[in-house]
Parts: sequence; structure tokens; C-alpha cells
Amino acid sequence: MESSMVKMRRMARLRTLSCALILLLAAVPGKASAQSVLSKAVRTSESMEPALSHPAQEAAAQAKLGALLAKNGKRPNIVWLLIDDMGYGDPGAFGGGAAIGAATVNMDRLAREGLKLTSTYSEPTCTPTRSAILTGRLPVRTGLTRPILAGDKLTKNPWAAETSLPKLLGEAGYKTVLSGKWHVGEAVGMRPQDVGFDEFYGFYEAAKEISQGVDKRRYPDLVLNPERLAMLRQTGSSDALTHGFKNGTTTSVEIIDSIEKMAEADRLLKEFSVAKIKELAAAGAPFFLEHSFMKVHADNFASKEFEGKSASKYPYKDGIVEVDAYIGEVVKALDEAGVLDNTFIFITSDNGPQLDSWPDSGYTPFRGAKGSAWEGGVRVPGIAYWRGTIAPGRESDELFSLMDLFNTSLRLAGAKDKIPTDRYIDGIDQASFLLVDHGRSNREKVFIWNEQTLMAMRMYEYKIHVKITEKHAQWLNIDMTTISDVGLAPWLFNLYIDPKEEYPVGHRMNAFLAPMGAEMKAHVATFRKYPPNDVGLGK
Ligand code: CA
Repeated sequence: MESSMVKMRRMARLRTLSCALILLLAAVPGKASAQSVLSKAVRTSESMEPALSHPAQEAAAQAKLGALLAKNGKRPNIVWLLIDDMGYGDPGAFGGGAAIGAATVNMDRLAREGLKLTSTYSEPTCTPTRSAILTGRLPVRTGLTRPILAGDKLTKNPWAAETSLPKLLGEAGYKTVLSGKWHVGEAVGMRPQDVGFDEFYGFYEAAKEISQGVDKRRYPDLVLNPERLAMLRQTGSSDALTHGFKNGTTTSVEIIDSIEKMAEADRLLKEFSVAKIKELAAAGAPFFLEHSFMKVHADNFASKEFEGKSASKYPYKDGIVEVDAYIGEVVKALDEAGVLDNTFIFITSDNGPQLDSWPDSGYTPFRGAKGSAWEGGVRVPGIAYWRGTIAPGRESDELFSLMDLFNTSLRLAGAKDKIPTDRYIDGIDQASFLLVDHGRSNREKVFIWNEQTLMAMRMYEYKIHVKITEKHAQWLNIDMTTISDVGLAPWLFNLYIDPKEEYPVGHRMNAFLAPMGAEMKAHVATFRKYPPNDVGLGK
């Protein structure tokens, strides 16, 4: 039985969430079809995000995929290499690398030999992005609006109302594996092996959730105080490397109870992925592998082999060099298994750098960092690589949302008809953009939410904020911020002349304030028919 206190809290949460959306919805017209003069996107279904239409490009993509299917006799493998908290400016291909003390030769090569996407957008934090890319849905819709932390008690299983990408790919004949960090719930029913993955080898939570129980230098009040440590353990969060199978066993491979063991976590994950690729390639069925690094989320401890291997020698930078080396090894494993030419690879980060943990943090040339709706929080490196299919040397600044990986992966699997129609899907099929030479993006807008609050929208090179994140200490983009209303005019930036979002062009230098506002209202109106889920992650 739900205690009255729990019930009251739940009701309060629902009221807060409802109030925010009712206020937003009160400002918008009744129909979701309002479209401004700025928009060329086409809404083909009430439940699908409108997309730009490129018929010739679509036909070229279809022909390319058809020829590949005829040649290979099976659908392509899909491999995501998801790095935790890496900054936009960390890889050399995106302006960092050796210039900031950590060369990234493998990522740079893959960017050079594939498609470099300079306007790729994540959500502002881990759990939101990780759930969004597997559902094609904004966190505000699924309720997974912020990271799940040790001791968090969700009021219901968010996955009960969602359909995951691995589940749909499994139905389409794929083998599906998650190697690495999960961070979308660790209770039975919420684990990767419960929600669609055939196999999970990794960790349920972020690196810091483990290090706070073992790193006496950073968390002495916990690690050196047995009573407090016992309290931490009572939260029930797992510090085990876990191996689980769909409808099968789930076992702890190793308890991570020292920083020395933490240091080797990504090496173990890499070794698993390399062996698994060999096994999956030999088995024959197409596969989906999400290799999800623990690094470079704080707290970083480089694997023994990589300690001091960056020019900078700092643990974060050694972590970047380590992650980059493992990316090279995973791609090499695909090549050696003979499947590289039939594998779509996407490399990215789940959010901006966590400047709160500086100097154990990445670099972004943009304003803000992880946690904020400024570009620094949500603009991440994006590399699409597919040897022989994506032309080398491509670069595009057109829009790509990581949620697009949901629709795009199903398209590549020949399973586009499996995309759910009973809920709103924010992802867009970007296969034609990624695969066709000189392809154009099918995405017109990116909406940036921070928990239950719609903050901003990117459209063309413009970014409009209707709310802003303000930080009250130079580096603390998570631990010391407030969200504020804008004044008379929304803050509208032209990112091509002001990538750091410092000086709004406003109505003085931009004619599109009102049309951009209309686009945001049309977005909010989609929540009328498709209300958000509340799983208890509100404040
Ligand atoms: Ca993250």
C-alpha cells in the first residue's frame, strides 16, 4: 500500500508537471498543425515529428540500401560508440585533440573517412539522452528527464510504457547487445536485458556513482566513515560489472571496490565487445551493438596501460586517449571479422562536458556545459562512418538529433514500419542524409528541454531561448544554477556569428522572432494528444 506521504509527494509532482505544461499549452492554438513561414518540414502523421522532404535523395538512399542488401544478403550491422560526457571540443576532428593535450587519432581518422556532423544535438544529461536514443522520444515524454542517482526511487517503470529500439530490432531478426553503461534503471523490469537487449555486459550506473564509494581522496566523508558508507550501500545501487541475458541469468562478474578496478572497467568492456563482434559476425545474423563507455565521466582513472599516455598527463586526458584507442580496436575487430563494409557506425557523446568536475572534465568551445540548454550542454561531436557506403571527407553543419538514431537504425534494418504510431516520436529518419553523397538533413528543428521545461530551439543557424540557464559559479553548470524567464523578447542568437551565445541579435537583427515562437508553440501543442509520462524524477 502506498503510504499517504508517498501519495502526497506523487500528487505534488504531478501537479508541478501539469502546471508547467498547462501554462505552456494555454499559450498555443488548439491544433498542432500551425506552421510558420520559416518551416518547410512536412507532417506526415500526427504522431511523427515533421521532416524535410528530399524525394530524389530518398530514392538514392533506397537504391543504395537495396544494392547493399542484394550484395550482402542481409541487413547491415549497427554499432554505436557512445562516450560519456565527452566535450564537443575534445576530439581533434572537432578542434581539440593534440592541441589540448590528448590526441585522438582514431576518431579523427573515422571523421575524415566518413561524415563529420558539426551540429549534432544530445539532451543535457546522461539518462535523458540514453533513453531518448533508444525510444526516439524526448525525455519529457518518457518521464526520464534527469539522471537517475543512487537512492532514487522511481514511482513506476518508465519502460512499461515504452518500446525500445533493441526490442524492435530483435523482432526484425537482429541480435542486440549493450556493452557498457546503461543508466536507465537497474530494478528488475528496467534493465537492458529486460527491455529488449539480448545481452548486457556492463554497469547500471555512471562512473561517479561507483567512485564515491571507493575514492577516499575525493569522498573522504564517505569512504573513511564506515557508518556513512553503510548508508550509501543501503541505497541499493549496484557497483558490479554485470552480465545479463534476456529471459536468462543475470550475474555479477566483478564487484568494483577500488579505483584500480575502476581504472580497468573500459578495458574489460572493450575486450568483451571485441570478442562479441567476432562471435556475432560468425553467427551470421545482423547485429546491433551499443558500446557505451564508462569514460570519460568523472571520476576518471586511466587504465594502467594509458596512465600518463596523453601529453597533458591529467586523468581525463588519459581517458580520452584510452577511449580513442578502444574505438580503433572495435573498428579493427569489425574489419577482421569481415563485416566492416556492412556495418553502420556512429560515434558521439551523450551530453556536453561536465565542467562541474573540472579539471576532470572535457572541453567545449560553446557557452555552458553538461546540464544546461546552452550549446555547451547539448552540442556534441557526431561521426557517421560506413566504409564503402558513406563517402569519405564529408562534413555537414545541418541538424542531427541523437534521437534520429532510433528512426535511422530501424530504416537501415528494413523495419521502419515497426516505429510505434500510438505515441509521439521525436526522432527522424536520417538515413538518406547520412548515406547519400551530398545528402541534406531531414531535420529542420531541434527542441531543447531541461527536465520539464522547454528552454530553446535551434532552427537554421538561429537559436531561440524562451528560458535561460544561469550559473552562479564559474564552472558549476549543474550544482549551482537557476532557470530564469527571459524578458520582453526571447533571446535569439545567430550561431554562425556568435557560436558562444553571448550577444542576442533579437528583433533588432532578426525578422523571425514571431515565426520561431510559432514553431515552439506547435511543438508544445503535440503534448495535448500525447501527454507526458511521470515516473517520479521531478523535483
Ligand atoms: Ca553523460
